[in-house]
Amino acid sequence: MAEINLKRVTKRWGDFVGVHEFDLDIADREFLVLLGPSGCGKTTTMRMIAGLEDPTSGDILIGGRRVNDLDPKDRDVAMVFQSYGLYPNMNVWENIRFPLKVRKVPEEEHEERVRRASAMVELDDFLHRKPAALSGGQRQRVALARAIVRTPKVFLMDEPLSNLDAKLRVSTRAQIKNLSHELQVTTIYVTHDQIEAMTLADRVVVMKQGIVQQVGTPTEIYDNPANTFVAGFIGSPAMNLMDGEVVDGTFKAEGVSIPGFSGVSGPVTCGFRAEDASVAEGEGEVGAPVYSMELLGDSTMVTVRAGGALVAVKAPKEFRTQIKAPFSAHVPASICHLFNTETGERIA
Ligand code: ATP
Repeated sequence: MAEINLKRVTKRWGDFVGVHEFDLDIADREFLVLLGPSGCGKTTTMRMIAGLEDPTSGDILIGGRRVNDLDPKDRDVAMVFQSYGLYPNMNVWENIRFPLKVRKVPEEEHEERVRRASAMVELDDFLHRKPAALSGGQRQRVALARAIVRTPKVFLMDEPLSNLDAKLRVSTRAQIKNLSHELQVTTIYVTHDQIEAMTLADRVVVMKQGIVQQVGTPTEIYDNPANTFVAGFIGSPAMNLMDGEVVDGTFKAEGVSIPGFSGVSGPVTCGFRAEDASVAEGEGEVGAPVYSMELLGDSTMVTVRAGGALVAVKAPKEFRTQIKAPFSAHVPASICHLFNTETGERIA
């Protein structure tokens, strides 16, 4: 069992707080993704779990055992980083075998284990090459094979796809998902890419400036963002956010009038997703001149300026308009999320 418990784990350097009271129970075999912008504390959290960084306060438990004072090599975690960390003078076979050697796994098991790990990431044909003679994607797969060669309790992956081109990213992403399922190992995966987070995670942790903003399944985070930061970070495009005011149950802002908000009044931020809105035949709740039109193949994305922001609406793929032409969208209250404008917290 490799459940991981983080109990108010904090990292400070002087006055600067890198991670603030991170509190979370990660289930055995869970695929957990830490998501957030650069500098939000993802890597630091990961390094503390690995034992490469000491927490300033708080406890870290792996498999029910407190590991704060345990060396990285005694924590039974395997790490994959964005810089692959391969040994340039060893060939692929030797690179993959390395952890077995370090851990003194009996020599007679090496051949079979390396063969199995390399087959899993489809590297069988490259075992005699040195890293310099491999593509970025192949090097990444060597790093993965090296992590899986000895089935650790925990996988820690820090932006393992960031050096790959778009196409390889998608295929390697699928491979990682498949591997973690096959191997049934608890995995913590760091990324700033929300699509990676949504596609890989059982649960996502969204972080900002060292503070956890929300923990939930990809669907929970997408459908019910806890605040405007999460709403603006998840989704492609991110949720539209318009500042305005509710008067007599109607949300009003420049170019916007959405009735149906009883029980709310005063300044609020109203959010909706481009794909939940639609092009209005007559007058819609949002009306403004077209700012841009993008053909996406399966749809047409129309952007207008409304409520002090650029607001995107997903239209059918045949839809055509022109910049500055009048545009009107159906944005009923039922698709809207309301947030406190000052704190950003969700209110409805
Ligand atoms: P990125 O996506 O850019 O890797 P991250 O979310 O992984 O970002 P961290 O590397 O965890 O961010 O860093 C969190 C914060 O802590 C950053 O503001 C960083 O500058 C700071 N930090 C990291 N290491 C140190 C250190 N040794 N001393 C002081 N500050 C540090």
